[in-house]
Amino acid sequence: MIVAVDGPTASGKGTIARALAEHFGLPHLDTGLLYRAVGRQVFLDGGNPDDAADALAATSFPDGLLLDPHLRSEETGGLASRVSVHPAVRQALYQRQRAFATQAGGAVLDGRDIATVIAPDAEVKLFVTATVDARAERRWKEMVASGKAVTLADIADDIRRRDERDSNRADAPLRVAEGAFVIDTSALTREQAIAAAIEAVETARRG
Ligand code: C5P
Repeated sequence: MIVAVDGPTASGKGTIARALAEHFGLPHLDTGLLYRAVGRQVFLDGGNPDDAADALAATSFPDGLLLDPHLRSEETGGLASRVSVHPAVRQALYQRQRAFATQAGGAVLDGRDIATVIAPDAEVKLFVTATVDARAERRWKEMVASGKAVTLADIADDIRRRDERDSNRADAPLRVAEGAFVIDTSALTREQAIAAAIEAVETARRG
């Protein structure tokens, strides 16, 4: 069974994908991490994330980079969103994601284009979303808890910019795939969101 989990930044899709993988005993790939590694590698190379050739060169980042804690930062998220607009970058990362999706026994992948591009054949397609305010507040709480001095307004602006770029790019824009089950986590607790996702997978499997 392939489970595709798509959605915008800070929607809760990563939490949901990890919980589904654990519940159903499937391997999980956070595909955003691959784009983050490309963004980080461009930075380390002193390249320009908006330049297709610089971004493409960075797709041959070493695997060890995937463990770099800098990948989780907002700065790297912004770089990831910039390198991910280049079709050559998306193409270079396609095979790795497709191979993960089609491994024997199935997999859970989360990202922006899993149900639309990487695995349109997924048995289960979830689109996890939430309002900008709900997402900004979550991100803000996480950042304040980790000792960062940030304002809620700045985070909301950053989320809007990322949404705008991810939704309006020409290649593989963020959108709800046909047949996807939409989960709006704005008013849900973490446990409620996970329960809704498990229920959706079970419903889809019964087909
Ligand atoms: O999900 P995450 O915030 O880690 O993703 C970082 C960026 O990588 C996104 O803003 C998006 O631009 C890009 N991305 C993508 N396709 C994916 C996963 C992430 O374009 N499947």
